[in-house]
Amino acid sequence: MIELYNLQVKMGRGKTSNVMKRLSTMRYELAMDMNPTPKILSLEETTIRNGILCNDGMCEYCRKTKASGSKGDHFYPMVGDRYPTEYCNDEWNCIPACVTCNSSKGGKNWKTWFESNNKSNPMTYLPEDEKAVILAKFTRYDREMQKYCQRKKVDRAHFDRLMEIIRQAFAKVDDGVKVIEMPIAAPSVFVL
Ligand SMILES: [Zn+2]
Repeated sequence: MIELYNLQVKMGRGKTSNVMKRLSTMRYELAMDMNPTPKILSLEETTIRNGILCNDGMCEYCRKTKASGSKGDHFYPMVGDRYPTEYCNDEWNCIPACVTCNSSKGGKNWKTWFESNNKSNPMTYLPEDEKAVILAKFTRYDREMQKYCQRKKVDRAHFDRLMEIIRQAFAKVDDGVKVIEMPIAAPSVFVL
């Protein structure tokens, strides 16, 4: 069964030439929308989380550079293999990180990234003692976040059905269309 939401696709300036490219953007947005809505952490959770992270404005991964002003890096990515991963934007899944670590980590989870030989992965360049401290911190953090962070399995067949509806709606788009309304599961308004 397909859940009913009110999704609108707004066509900016009536252009349709990049519709196929934007379909992949839509896919990403839809995947993001299907992950659980972030919750507010309880005082207990905040205390546990703050007790593990350094929380000093520096990047938690490399400890060398200031964390960027954004919400942080997703400890576990929200989209993987082009499908929602079940992880969300809960504070538990957001790690203060510098721009270099964030972009080096990309869509990987922290363990895969730490094991990679990417030259911006701190595990490839930090001294052994510093590496050990950071590894221990995140091993502990992972154990706690798995207990508290919201997770929601998304059925891939369901996701595929929603994408098919979007794809069909895109197929009807012509220059004169400014807004397409689609009865599918996503609260967003996509602006093209
Ligand atoms: Zn960093």
